Amino acid sequence: MNDLLAKLLDQGVNRISGVYTGFQPKRPNALVIPRFVSIEHRIPSLIDALGEFVDLGRLRRPLVISDPVTWDIAGGELYDGFEAAGLGPRKALVGSNEYHHGARVIEQMSYNPRLWSDEEWPWERRLYGAKVPSVVFGVGGGTVIDMAKLIAFQLHVPCVTVPTSLANDGIASPFAVIRPPEGKPSANVTVRANTPLGVLIDLGRIKPRSEAARGFFERMMLSGIGDGVSNLTSTLDWELAAAHGKDHLDYLALLHARSAGEVVLYRLEQGAALDDDDLVLTLASGLVSSGEAMARVESSRPASGFEHKLYHAYQNVLGFDHRATHGILVAVGTLISASAHGQWLEPMRASFGRIGLPVDAAGLEHFGLTADRIERAITASVGVKRERYTILEHLGPDALIACFREVYAL
Ligand SMILES: [Zn+2]
Repeated sequence: MNDLLAKLLDQGVNRISGVYTGFQPKRPNALVIPRFVSIEHRIPSLIDALGEFVDLGRLRRPLVISDPVTWDIAGGELYDGFEAAGLGPRKALVGSNEYHHGARVIEQMSYNPRLWSDEEWPWERRLYGAKVPSVVFGVGGGTVIDMAKLIAFQLHVPCVTVPTSLANDGIASPFAVIRPPEGKPSANVTVRANTPLGVLIDLGRIKPRSEAARGFFERMMLSGIGDGVSNLTSTLDWELAAAHGKDHLDYLALLHARSAGEVVLYRLEQGAALDDDDLVLTLASGLVSSGEAMARVESSRPASGFEHKLYHAYQNVLGFDHRATHGILVAVGTLISASAHGQWLEPMRASFGRIGLPVDAAGLEHFGLTADRIERAITASVGVKRERYTILEHLGPDALIACFREVYAL
């Protein structure tokens, strides 16, 4: 009887607190999306903004991850705020997405009996978690955020992202792009991580604060726009796959991803400049939405179709050195895909050309891309993520090469 009472009481309490186990998703992590997202034009104090969502007093040894540049933009301010609040913050500066950078931080932050002898590690630290941070903050661009997501995942603690640039949709996605340890293939790999618990974006820290920073800002914006608008073709690929029985379509995730691409393209069609407040706000929101779509289905499917296979083939399979970022290459793939699908091409091409994304041979050259390499990458894309059916599998590489030549007037 007592057992039954305890069980009922327990269920009652859990119902009230919203964690009644009957409502827990059967698939672990299903519907895990950020618990808070704050995107503001001007955030005077990051600590105050964070305090609106998180009980700061409950954080223990928050770990702030930055690179030397983003430390000055936002990382240092957060760290100082945590220190002033007596939370015992820790910091790590990472310069690249190489796995060993992350592994070193993980070693420093956790007790690992295989790495440390009893003499090297005081007894009290042997209690697992005794010195582990309770949360990881990734403050920076894509590389820093990928590293923070990886470290948080391996330490089994949540991650909060504070982006200082908008170059891709990793801001809120459950994946991290990492360069594996030596001895493994030198290409980047995408690994599973946790969806960030929160996302804090101050657009004032993303927009250039000096003329010297303008070039970098514009380059990151072009990249982010390429990645955001690519959702229009990746979702066409998803629908195509579903129509041919090659994939299951989650329409809610598709809407999340597609509307992100649509709103960004809409702003561009209205003539927004790269530093236009509304465009930056729209892009930030769109990239978060895109990450949420991926989190919803625990797959990059909503935001990654042929145009991402092309990027992967160009950089990772063929190993071409290039000055173009992820989003620039993805933008090229997006135009090819739009042409092949027979949708979106004209508005995309006009907008991309206006803001400086490559739409002709000269544009490709500007970003260090050559037509020959892109064509070889289209062919090599056939071996990338074979299980993912896209316009490439539907029409074949020769048809896409023809589209590429037509779009870029080669
Ligand atoms: Zn992407």
